Amino acid sequence: MAEKPATNTPKANTLGARLEKLGLRSDTDLVLHLPLRYEDETRITAIRDAMPGIAAQFEVEVVDAEIAFRPRRQLVVRVRDATDAEGAMLLRFLNFYPSQQKVLQPGARLRIFGEPRGGFLGDEIIHPRFHPVTDDTPLPDRLTPVYPTTAGLGQSTLRRLIDRALKRADWSDTLPEALRAQLKLPDFADAIRLLHTPPPDIPQARLESRDLPAWRRVQFDELLAQQLSLRRAYAARRAKGAPRLKGSGKLTKALLAALPFRLTGAQDRAWKEIAADLGQPHPMQRLLQGDVGSGKTIVAALAMLHAVESGHQAALMAPTEILAEQHYRKLSQWLAPLGIEVAWLTGSLKKKEKAAAIAKVGAGETAIVVGTHALIEDDVAFPRLGLAIVDEQHRFGVRQRLALKEKGQFAHQLTMSATPIPRTLAMSYYADLDVSVLDELPPGRTPVTTKLVAEGRREQVIGRVHDACRAGGQAYWVCPLIEESEALQLKTAQETYERLVEELPDIQVGLVHGRMKAAEKAAVMEAFSRNEVHLLVATTVIEVGVDVPNASLMVIEHAERFGLAQLHQLRGRVGRGAAQSACILIYAKPVGEIARARLKIIYENTDGFEIARQDLALRGPGEFIGARQSGLPLLRYADLDDTVLVEKARAAAEELLRDAPERADAHLKRWLGGREELLKA
Ligand code: ADP
Ligand code: MG
Repeated sequence: MAEKPATNTPKANTLGARLEKLGLRSDTDLVLHLPLRYEDETRITAIRDAMPGIAAQFEVEVVDAEIAFRPRRQLVVRVRDATDAEGAMLLRFLNFYPSQQKVLQPGARLRIFGEPRGGFLGDEIIHPRFHPVTDDTPLPDRLTPVYPTTAGLGQSTLRRLIDRALKRADWSDTLPEALRAQLKLPDFADAIRLLHTPPPDIPQARLESRDLPAWRRVQFDELLAQQLSLRRAYAARRAKGAPRLKGSGKLTKALLAALPFRLTGAQDRAWKEIAADLGQPHPMQRLLQGDVGSGKTIVAALAMLHAVESGHQAALMAPTEILAEQHYRKLSQWLAPLGIEVAWLTGSLKKKEKAAAIAKVGAGETAIVVGTHALIEDDVAFPRLGLAIVDEQHRFGVRQRLALKEKGQFAHQLTMSATPIPRTLAMSYYADLDVSVLDELPPGRTPVTTKLVAEGRREQVIGRVHDACRAGGQAYWVCPLIEESEALQLKTAQETYERLVEELPDIQVGLVHGRMKAAEKAAVMEAFSRNEVHLLVATTVIEVGVDVPNASLMVIEHAERFGLAQLHQLRGRVGRGAAQSACILIYAKPVGEIARARLKIIYENTDGFEIARQDLALRGPGEFIGARQSGLPLLRYADLDDTVLVEKARAAAEELLRDAPERADAHLKRWLGGREELLKA
């Protein structure tokens, strides 16, 4: 039963589809598709000088060609050149066509290109590229580019298409002359031409390590496009109107006076930045970034009260029930004494309760609402929404982020994140947001001690958990991540729980995992926060935001399977009270090289920014960001952690948008084409 194919998507096996896969839709795209490396076909190497492992071009005559059957069917061609009359170089073809066999006849003159290796009978090359030549076949005068490609799209086809595109391309320079001179960057056309077809006197090592002014130009252009599009998106949102929330100070001052602690300098600064934004007639677009435990919640509470005392509603949305519930409890505890009711809205509420909450919010009776993405469902209306706060935004799907954006059309937005992005990255990653950073932890915390323990010593760890709990403390036991199978992960958690219950009969053990009913989950968390459960066995659902200050011991099994950000988040669940806390990372051998590096980093560092920086160095920015969020156009040539160049691109973007918007348009069109839409999600 054949389905009618969609007419506008090219079939998977057409040239168009393959080009599409590489993101190549226009001449401009082809022109910006730059080589990965080069091959030198401008010179001929004598067979005598062939070096194993070094690709080179040889000009040869075929001595003989035969099909061998051992170890499998293959075409073996013996060739010689003037320096090697014995004919000791072999060409081996494991796949070959009759048309190729026809060319490879004794006496044929060929130029071949490939990487020789030492064989039993002398040098041999497997699957060399070859073409017949005559006495006057000229040698190319440029290096041959090798492009990134995809299955079914050969280098020669790509080269032909790119060659054609280069002939018809628009070569106008989008950078003003003065800027180019100031940054010492070459002309666009010169840079691009050089990279596609470099003269042979440029060392290949420099071309391939991208250490050339021409590459610098390309990298700059790419970063500039990214900065331009982010700044444009920012400006577009800023052009919209939002209610000016002036704030009487009545509620915020009362909350500050009632708190058992004083704001840290960083909290105070962030809170003032937010209050200033809220007083503007256009939407705030701010990110509040702070390591785990830096105290983002109180800043959010102050911002919400500011909205309320200005006569508006405020909503706080969290990615998980556990986290939302915790925010709800904390806010209620702070705000009830001020006479402010907090509404609670999640998918797990009973139908009636939910309808009642929605009705109250819709009538504008409740000013503060906390919940999960149930907040942005269709039937929830906020007549006076002034501020929407999203915790850990990257954990929501794109669709939910868009829905929230719709709901909060005319509202101020604050995003909170405990994922520390290194400052260098934040500059470009968050070019479309204003950022407040909590770079200071509340006083009185004792740093968490981290221990690495081999699996064989599990019993000792259990003993330690026992002692800690008997002494009035509490502990988390995080079960291994099993990426392939959620079912297996749950099974392991269940088994770990049962075993710990058995081994620790005199302490209360609880279990929490992602598949439990919300009410059950909430009950366990509640019992844990009241110290009725002493040891909480959990999957990574506790990764974000759970705040139980009395818990001072964290055990993570198969720590070698976790990513650094995750380990850091998990460890951040302890060390929240005054007691000395510890995090025990149990690892099982064998530990791979990368996993070992991760464990070393988490063992040696407690500062989230430093961990993120080293994580970045370990994985490279592509993956670091890829895993985190979409919406940012991927960089092909530049590195986000090239701070100096990012900074220059950022300044240039400001300048272009201000002084030469038509150049900014042309630049965006060249580099992002239709892909700019992606940024708006
Ligand atoms: P996070 O930034 O990880 O969301 P929280 O907002 O959960 O951090 O705060 C962590 C803990 O620190 C909470 O128990 C909170 O009440 C407490 N806290 C926040 N700010 C301060 C402060 N200035 N002084 C002392 N304790 C604070
Ligand atoms: Mg938090």
